[in-house]
Amino acid sequence: MHVPTIIEKKREGTELTAEEIAHLISGFTSGDVADYQMSAWAMAVFFRGMTAAETHHLTKAMMESGRVLDYPEGTPPKVDKHSTGGVGDKISLVLAPLLACDNVWVPMICGRGLGITGGTLDKLESIPGFNVHIDERRALAQLESIGVFIIGQTADICPANRKLYALRDVTGTIPSQPLIAASIMSKKLAEKLDRLVLDVKFGNGAFMKTRKEAKQLATTMTKVGKLMGVKVSHLLSPMDEPLGHAVGNALEVAECVEILQGRGPSDVVDLVLDLAEQVSKAPREKLAGWLSDGTAWRKFISLVYAQDGDASSLEKITEVHRAPIIHPLLAQSSGTVTKMDAETIGRAFLLLGGGRQNVDDTIDFAVGFSGIKKIGERVDKGEPLIVVHAANAQALTSVLTLLEEAIETS
Ligand code: URA
Repeated sequence: MHVPTIIEKKREGTELTAEEIAHLISGFTSGDVADYQMSAWAMAVFFRGMTAAETHHLTKAMMESGRVLDYPEGTPPKVDKHSTGGVGDKISLVLAPLLACDNVWVPMICGRGLGITGGTLDKLESIPGFNVHIDERRALAQLESIGVFIIGQTADICPANRKLYALRDVTGTIPSQPLIAASIMSKKLAEKLDRLVLDVKFGNGAFMKTRKEAKQLATTMTKVGKLMGVKVSHLLSPMDEPLGHAVGNALEVAECVEILQGRGPSDVVDLVLDLAEQVSKAPREKLAGWLSDGTAWRKFISLVYAQDGDASSLEKITEVHRAPIIHPLLAQSSGTVTKMDAETIGRAFLLLGGGRQNVDDTIDFAVGFSGIKKIGERVDKGEPLIVVHAANAQALTSVLTLLEEAIETS
C-alpha cells in the first residue's frame, strides 16, 4: 500500500479502509512511515474527521500495536472506568477498591497528571512505598488474590498511541475528537475489559469546555467500544469547580481515606456511586453500604499492601507530607460562594509545584489546597474559603493573587 495515497485520500475526505489504517499504524510503529507523513495524516484527520468505522479501525490498530492483557478462562468479568480528567478528580482511588468488593476484576492502568489535570499514579505514589510498576505476572496474581490493581502504562501497551500522541502534541492535532477517542479507547481496551464506564467531564477545568463537545466525544467512544465488543457506558459530569474539598496528591489521598471510611464530600461519593452503578451488578444501596461499613476501606488497604505501600501511613498521610506553609484564605464578608473556578485553581496548583507542565517534571506531594468551599455554600466573615499548602512564601504569594480571581462570594 502506498502511504502518500492514504494521506491524500484522507485529505480529500474519503473514508479509509481497515486495511489502509492498519497499514499506516503498523508502518508508523515500526518506523517505516515517517513522522512527517503521520503528522500530515493527523492534520488531514483534524480537518476531515473520521467516520465511526474509521475511528474503530484506528482504535483496533493502535491497540494491536502492542500487548493486550490476557486472563485465564472462567475468571470474573473485568471492569474499569476512564475519566477525561479534571481538578481534584480522585475518583479512581475510591472506585477501584469499591468495585473489587463485588465479584469482578478491576485491572486499572492509568496515567500521571499533566497540566491542570491531576493523575491517579501521582496520588498513589504519595503513599510511601506504593509501587505502580509491578509486572504483568504479579498484577495478574494480584487480581486472583484481591481483584484489583492500579498500575502505570507499560512500554509494550499501545506503543503506536504513545508515538502518535507525542507527534500530535507538537503539531497542533491534539484537539481532534476521533484521535482523542481512539487514543483513550486503545489504551483502555488493551486491558481486555468486559465493561467500561467513561466519565467525560465538561467545564472550564476540563479538556472539553462544553457539554456538547463532551457528549460528542462520549458518543464516539461509546460507539467504538460497542464495535470492539465491550459494554461501554458514559456519564457527563461538570468540572467548573474542583471535585470534593481537596486538590493535591497527599491531600487527595487523605480525602479518599475519609470517603472509604464512610465520610467525605457528597459530590465525590455521589459520582463514585453513579459510576460504580454503570459497571457493577451490585445495586447502589449495596455499593454505598461497602463505603460506609469499611468493606471498601479494607479492600483499599489490601491494595496498598499488595503494591508495597505502607498502609499504616494512610491515616496520617498529611503528616507524612506536610507543607511548610499552611495558610487559610479568609472570607472578607459573610455570603454564599458563587465561584470556585476549577481551571484557575488547577493553574494555582501548578504554581505550587504539585502538578506537571512537562511529562518529566518532578512534583511535590505535600502542596495543594484543602477545605475548599463548594459553590452554593454559606460562609461567615473570617471563615476559610480555601486553605493553601505551600512550599515557600514566594509560591504562596503568587497563588494568593490567582485565588482572588478564582473565588467569588455574593
Ligand atoms: N487523553 C488521551 O489519553 N489521549 C488524547 O488524545 C487526549 C487525552
